[in-house]
Order: sequence, then structure tokens, then C-alpha cells
Amino acid sequence: MPSLAQHKYLPCFHRQVYTSRPILYRARVYCATTTTTNSSPAGKLVIEPRLVPTQPVVVTAYNRPLDNDPSLQSTWSHRAWVVAGCTTLLISLGGSIKGAADLHLWVEPIIASYIGYILSDLGSGIYHWGIDNYGDGTTPFVGSQIEAFQGHHKMPWTITRREFANNLHALARAVTFTVLPIDLVCHNPTVQAFVGMFAGCIMFSQQFHAWAHGTKSRLPALVVALQEAGVLVSRSQHGAHHRPPYNNNYCIVSGVWNEFLDKHKVFEAMEMILYFKLGVRPRSWSEPTSEWLEDIEIPSRVPTQ
Ligand SMILES: [Zn+2]
Ligand SMILES: [Zn+2]
Repeated sequence: MPSLAQHKYLPCFHRQVYTSRPILYRARVYCATTTTTNSSPAGKLVIEPRLVPTQPVVVTAYNRPLDNDPSLQSTWSHRAWVVAGCTTLLISLGGSIKGAADLHLWVEPIIASYIGYILSDLGSGIYHWGIDNYGDGTTPFVGSQIEAFQGHHKMPWTITRREFANNLHALARAVTFTVLPIDLVCHNPTVQAFVGMFAGCIMFSQQFHAWAHGTKSRLPALVVALQEAGVLVSRSQHGAHHRPPYNNNYCIVSGVWNEFLDKHKVFEAMEMILYFKLGVRPRSWSEPTSEWLEDIEIPSRVPTQ
């Protein structure tokens, strides 16, 4: 009877390594889980996750990047791509509204835009899962995004310091190249509504993502209200993505797909298919290495009350 037993994660271990500093200690926290995949007698794959209790993440003022870090600031190139992306979206959505008004056709474009919003969350999850798990900095077209997301897992808090155009320019460029040609050839208001809303949510997903890392007291009240209403991905839901086992809650627009995808182990099934078809292992199966570790700095002295 064929039997497959694959250790998706190494057994859990939690370790802290301290190096001395004048004022503080640097702690590196490792967390992992074990998942065993078996082939049942009927040939059906069974994935049994063994979850590790989540570890609290300590973020202090010490590990926050400098406000003037040039890698977090927007350049004129970043701003130009964001302007191009926004212009492309306005052509789609403006064309949809004009076409709907001319044809007195409103229901279909509204439904199409809602479907675009819902599917954009799924699209953001698939893309995020792909670049979190496959490829590296040398991968064509998305290498820089892969490096950026790996850096994000290492220092999640930096996204809240990243300037708007710096954060959005890569997706804005992708939207410009893919949607602008559609704008030029398609003048159907329903299609334009779907494309404009889908691409818009994808382009701004990095801003929604940044807000998901914000603290409630510092976020605009409207953003908090939209997060709590489930219109935008919530802080708690995305926070789970940054805790072991680091293989869930990939969707970053509204997060509406996260529960379904994780409950039905959709990404794990896709990982198995890719592994058996192509022999490539996702990063989330491996022992946490530098790209999954979060640098944490803890003050050497606890302030007295
Ligand atoms: Zn991620
Ligand atoms: Zn994040």
C-alpha cells in the first residue's frame, strides 16, 4: 500500500539568541509547526496540521526603522507610476459610468463592480501566497516583489512607515500595463466596471495591507470602521498571517476569502499539486529560515512603574 508521509514543518522549537548591546538585547524568535501528509488507502490526501501555540511578538521602539530611511520613501518614479495607475483606473471606471449613463444600464455594472471587489480579495490571496512561497529575487517580473514580501515578514512594522507611492508603485505599474490596453479596446460599461474595481482593489491592496498593520488609535476612524465592518482586511485577521504556521490569511483586500481558503486547505492542496507535478516545495514547508524570522529587539531593562 503506497504511503506518503511528508513532514511539512520540522518539530516545533522556540529559541531566543541574545547578543549583547549597550542598551538592549536582540532576540530572534523561531517558531514552526509540523504537518504530516498521508495518502489514505483510497488515495485521498489527508493533511493533518499540528499547530503550535502562537508566540507573542514584541515590537518596541528600538526595532522601528528610522523615519528618514530612503528605502521607505517615495521617489518621483514611484509617484509617476501611481499617477499612471490611478489614471488607468479612472479611465475604466469613468468609461463604465459614462457608458451606463448613455445606455441607462446601471444594475449590471454595479453587480460587476461588486464581483470585481469580491474576486480582487481572492486574487490578492493567490498572488500573496505565490510570492510568499515560490521564486526569489531573480524571478522575472516579480523578483522585487518576492524580496519585498520576504523583507515584510522579517520586519512587518516597516510597512506602516513606508510612504504611499513607495508602497503602491509596483502594483500601479502592473495595473497600467494590463488594464490600459483593455481600456483602449473595450467600451462595455459592465466589463469596465469589473476591470476597474478588480484592478483598483488589487492596486490599493498594499495600502489596505499597511492599514492592517496599523494601530487602531493611529488609523483614521473611517479606516477602522471599514476594517471592523469587513470591507477592508482586519488587523486581527492579517495579524494571524504573521504568526505561525505562516501559511494562512493571505488575502489582503477584504479578507472575505481567508476563512474559506484556510478551512478547505485550498493553498495546501495547490502546494501539493505543484510539488507532485513540478517538484517545487513552497517556503512554508521548510524550517523557518531568515525570510520567516522576525527580528525582535527587547529593552534590557523593564521600566519601573
Ligand atoms: Zn505574507
Ligand atoms: Zn503583513
